[in-house]
Amino acid sequence: MTNPFAPELLAWYEQVAAELPWRGSDDAYRVWLSEIMLQQTQVETVKPYYARFLAAYPTVEALAAAPLDDVLKQWEGLGYYSRARYLHRAAQVVVSDYGGRFPATADELQKLPGIGRYTAGAVASIAFGARAPVLDGNVIRVFSRLLDLPDDVTLPATRTKLWQTAEDWLPETRVGDYNQSLMDLGRLICKPRAPLCGGCPVRAHCLAFQRGTQHQRPVKTPRAETPHYDVTAGLIWNERGQLLIAQRPLDGLLGGLWEFPGGKQEPGETRTECLKRELREELAIEVSVGDLYARVRHAFTHFKITLHAYTCRYVSGEPQALGVRAWAWVMPDALDAYSFGKADRQVIAEMRARRAMLL
Ligand code: SF4
Repeated sequence: MTNPFAPELLAWYEQVAAELPWRGSDDAYRVWLSEIMLQQTQVETVKPYYARFLAAYPTVEALAAAPLDDVLKQWEGLGYYSRARYLHRAAQVVVSDYGGRFPATADELQKLPGIGRYTAGAVASIAFGARAPVLDGNVIRVFSRLLDLPDDVTLPATRTKLWQTAEDWLPETRVGDYNQSLMDLGRLICKPRAPLCGGCPVRAHCLAFQRGTQHQRPVKTPRAETPHYDVTAGLIWNERGQLLIAQRPLDGLLGGLWEFPGGKQEPGETRTECLKRELREELAIEVSVGDLYARVRHAFTHFKITLHAYTCRYVSGEPQALGVRAWAWVMPDALDAYSFGKADRQVIAEMRARRAMLL
């Protein structure tokens, strides 16, 4: 099937292509890094991380050789930490199994850890010029409007249909530019709430624009209400003025990050009971739980938490890594050497603000 709008889209792209630090490079390592960082994350947020990450790990070999803890530290604040773990693992596979050269096809790229169909298509087309489609949230929105699609785009059957459309519409040449122009169109013009149809290079081909339905596309079933959990954390001090921190297991949410130990409050349990139980289960220690020190709200993709951090005094038991990967007693000034998730970093910020007031 011939693409009805590629010439206009590519002409627009040549004039307005966003000046982005990862553009203009066909180095697969850089393209891959930028695509992983851009998943679920705004361009402006990614820019400084991308620059710092490349300075720290200029090649896939450098990334593969780095300790995971250092990689997580570089990633700190960017969120969705499984991306950093997969990035590190994929770099090691590229070095060990592919001699440090990324495979050039979307099918081969998808065999690497953390690379799904979208990222594989983006890297294959941008870095290697392969005829591979991309379909992410931006492209889904653009396509559903171009086609004036009444189907629910959250359904797997609709996704399959849209992937087929993405494949059918691939131009014969300049596929990397075409894919990037689709991403830019979704981000800059065909915006979720207020599409800028007046300045859209493909409006002559857009059924939703012609029918005035662009605000009703894409069709999505509303998500069920996001669950909320109460989570406790202990700020456990020893008599040397050190705080106990624990590293989360590698698999799972915030894997490999450090935290103030604690866990989710179970039904029928008070927060004090919850904290004592979690500390026994994860570290085999006893503490006395004192005052509430800070309360932080945080939203993950599929749920929200309120983190209740309590001041605790260490009572007994040599810590053991039962439900955690590692543990450490650290002076408050040394916390920056460890990678923490956002909620715990807010607790640390609160700690520093209070200390600054006392000085
Ligand atoms: Fe999106 Fe409007 Fe362009 Fe259609 S005309 S693709 S709705 S910006």
